[in-house]
Amino acid sequence: MKYANEINKRKSFAIIAHPDAGKTTLTEKFLLFGGAIQTAGAVKSNKIKKHTTSDFMEIERQRGISVATSVMSFDYRDTIVNLLDTPGHKDFAEDTYRTLTAVDSVVLVIDCVKGVEEQTERLMEVCRMRDTPVIIFVNKMDRDGKMPFDLLDELEEKLSIRVRPLSWPINMGKDFRGVYNLYNKSYVSFSPNKKATDDDIVPLKDLSSSFVDENFNEKDADQLRSDVELIEGVYDPFEKEPYLEGKLAPVFFGSAVNNFGVKDLLDTFVEIAPLPKPRPASTRDIDPYEDKFTGFIFKIHANLDPRHRDRIAFLRICSGKFERNKFYHHVRLDKDMRFSNPYTFMAREKNIVDDAYPGDVVGLFDTGNFKIGDTLTEGEELFFTGIPSFSPELFKELVNKDPMKTKQLEKGIRQLTDEGVAQLFTQHNGNRKIIGCVGDLQFEVIQYRLLQEYGAACQFNTLPFYKACWITGDKQKIEDFIRFKGQNIVEDKDGHLVYLAQSEWYLNTERSNNPDIEFHFSSEIH
Ligand code: GDP
Repeated sequence: MKYANEINKRKSFAIIAHPDAGKTTLTEKFLLFGGAIQTAGAVKSNKIKKHTTSDFMEIERQRGISVATSVMSFDYRDTIVNLLDTPGHKDFAEDTYRTLTAVDSVVLVIDCVKGVEEQTERLMEVCRMRDTPVIIFVNKMDRDGKMPFDLLDELEEKLSIRVRPLSWPINMGKDFRGVYNLYNKSYVSFSPNKKATDDDIVPLKDLSSSFVDENFNEKDADQLRSDVELIEGVYDPFEKEPYLEGKLAPVFFGSAVNNFGVKDLLDTFVEIAPLPKPRPASTRDIDPYEDKFTGFIFKIHANLDPRHRDRIAFLRICSGKFERNKFYHHVRLDKDMRFSNPYTFMAREKNIVDDAYPGDVVGLFDTGNFKIGDTLTEGEELFFTGIPSFSPELFKELVNKDPMKTKQLEKGIRQLTDEGVAQLFTQHNGNRKIIGCVGDLQFEVIQYRLLQEYGAACQFNTLPFYKACWITGDKQKIEDFIRFKGQNIVEDKDGHLVYLAQSEWYLNTERSNNPDIEFHFSSEIH
């Protein structure tokens, strides 16, 4: 327990949202509150707006920006908050899924006009797989959106999680008056573009108070009283335990661009969000309070400068203390390594760090030693589990266009897939290389980067697969299955067998024909 003081200060989380819901805006307001930035506009969205081949420079620029804003640390009250950025674009969803393995909780932003969107649902599925605690922020209340009660129902239904409002809006759109905080029983009135301060908060323990009648018209006052009565009648009182177990999501209403409701959210976050949690590893669970250092790589970013092929590997510290220039054990390579320039990020600034603690993320310069999921320890042989590869949804065969550059292509595709840009599958008993991605944009990124960084020209031929399933089970049954379905069997980079299904129908048929084989939709099983 040498480092308990440090660990107990740290809360690490990610903001997740469907693109355009307001993630970047909310991030920026958080950083303003935390004093990490002084002016609005300092945080750049890492959104990729266009979707054309001529957009590569934009992708490159965006990648650069998202390196700089990958982790943002700031102090708020007595807490060191580590905010991990997640790309909103669907084509980079895998990056987001992996980032979710490195945080202890999330804030989910919902646009009150659009409600639960496609990407919101998928992201929440990942959170639920890991029982990650979620706080929901319903944004854009300055616009006419869905009715709050309807929104709460939609959240429960589509996200399969119980919700509990902790603040409640008085009107919305141009009539938006403010929010009543049901948790600490207070009222804050809405004024556009103003940073709420403690002075703006009016304690309102009792809604029968004359303050309500004096400050609201009759309709608004009645509405607030009856809404709150209904909420208190329908929803159980808020409890921290089910939230921490990932079963109950507290909900706040506000407007990020107007800096409204953000302070309430942040105050509650630092109060209830979990401290660094124990993490499952191959041999045992690792407690953050253990004295010895452990950590894992959850994200790798290529260097923007094509003349340098070094990369940045993002290390989440899980236990003990990470120190600059100290030797650590790279478990997969069975090699000791030390890092002379590990750094952390403050908005767009990089700072060299001398030490870091559980909950922190540091960036390590990497010349090709790391791949996603790699574990560093002080010597113990273990690796962290729960850093899955998900089934891609698009599959293309990688075709070499320049036989003179075969080596470069092989090296390039191996390194890029180590970074997690896409997944590489190789034909079982063969040599064909199949790349699986979640979005088309990644194929363009790969093609471009193979040429720019490795000098290798390639082409992609679309394959008619729709899902990759890792298969396990009885050895003989698997062998029979391979014999029968050889065309559809590939191996992932670790040599695990994967069945590529052409359609849902095929998949279901194979599943019912082969009851002794298990089909998994993520590589987590290994
Ligand atoms: P992201 O894609 O989730 O990062 O979304 P952004 O933060 O970039 O926001 C998308 C758009 O919504 C931008 O034009 C923002 O100015 C706008 N926006 C963000 N918060 C609010 C809000 O509270 N009210 C309104 N009306 N617009 C907002």
